[in-house]
Amino acid sequence: MSSSPVRDGRPARGQLFIVSAPSGTGKTTLVERLVQCVPGLRLSRSYTSRPARAGEQDGVDYNFITREQFERMVHEGQFLEWADVFGNYYGTAAADTEAWLTQGEDVVLVIDVQGARQVRSRGIETIGIFVLPPSAAVLEQRLRGRSKDSEEQIRRRLEVASAEVDEYAQYEYVVINDEIEAAVGR
Ligand code: 5GP
Repeated sequence: MSSSPVRDGRPARGQLFIVSAPSGTGKTTLVERLVQCVPGLRLSRSYTSRPARAGEQDGVDYNFITREQFERMVHEGQFLEWADVFGNYYGTAAADTEAWLTQGEDVVLVIDVQGARQVRSRGIETIGIFVLPPSAAVLEQRLRGRSKDSEEQIRRRLEVASAEVDEYAQYEYVVINDEIEAAVGR
């Protein structure tokens, strides 16, 4: 994963990793730690129509755009995948990942299960990793603990989480995020 091997004088194509997990699983922290310790692994920055939460920065956490801008990008076929998650649009720009992959860099997409399905259905080779919380009770605790969301949003996230967990068998690896250092290691 770390060496960007050369083939015929050009870098061999990088590998595309997909990480999916119910919201509140701690996947963002996990993947951020992973890209710090694994050389040659790039984290794709998604586009979203969701408003930035406190502390989030445009161009760092996401590319924050309007619904109209997002819909234009969809219309222009700019997305490798996109989905409506919790009423907001999220998508991966094809050009961003393609540039890295052709340079031989490995890329990790942190996307929901609908997006992962789209990438697979395009026949693109991916290595899928599904991150699970230790239990449903811990997930609920984490969602409440971060207190970023209203009660209604938390309920909705828990419902969606339970449907998402059913998809784990579509992924090559499952990692339980019980303790961050241990999970990064795994
Ligand atoms: P959040 O709003 O909590 O940052 O993210 C909500 C959900 O959207 C998470 O499950 C996250 O993985 C997913 N998500 C983030 N970026 C993308 C993307 O580019 N495509 C898709 N399909 N899902 C995404």
